[in-house]
Amino acid sequence: MRYHNITKDDMLNGDGLRVVLWVAGCSHGCPECQNPVTWDPNGGLPFTEKEKHELFDELEKPYIAGITFSGGDPLHEVNEVEITELAKEIRDRFPHKTIWLYTGYEWSALTGHEILNYIDVLVDGRYEKELRDTRLHWRGSANQHVIDVKESLRQGYIVSHI
Ligand code: SF4
Repeated sequence: MRYHNITKDDMLNGDGLRVVLWVAGCSHGCPECQNPVTWDPNGGLPFTEKEKHELFDELEKPYIAGITFSGGDPLHEVNEVEITELAKEIRDRFPHKTIWLYTGYEWSALTGHEILNYIDVLVDGRYEKELRDTRLHWRGSANQHVIDVKESLRQGYIVSHI
């Protein structure tokens, strides 16, 4: 897996102060995407043990609410396996931190994906510029959902994260 950035004390990509991993690789091609530099799965830098420990060091801090995986698309075929392993490890090591994930795939396409067992909030769907709405919280366009993953799996339909 490759990545473009790790941002710290981030307030724009989920609840509280977060560490955010911006991975490389996205095949959705949304018009007016704000991060087209992240589309190339061969772009950015290799994600190694060093970067993993950089994330863990942030998660050790009591004021950090959790981690957000963004990109690019963390569920692009080149990323999903490693992101799933990473999310599982974080869930085990930091059970009180929240895990958010932004993906261009829709909730209905992710049924049965192992990653859903480890994340708290999933923001799903492509960015649709015609549906852009700056009043929306945590999402760019109205087609996207900010999903409470555990509750949605329990209920069998999308339950929004408040
Ligand atoms: S899913 Fe996100 S990163 Fe990928 S093209 Fe769409 S807006 Fe850009």
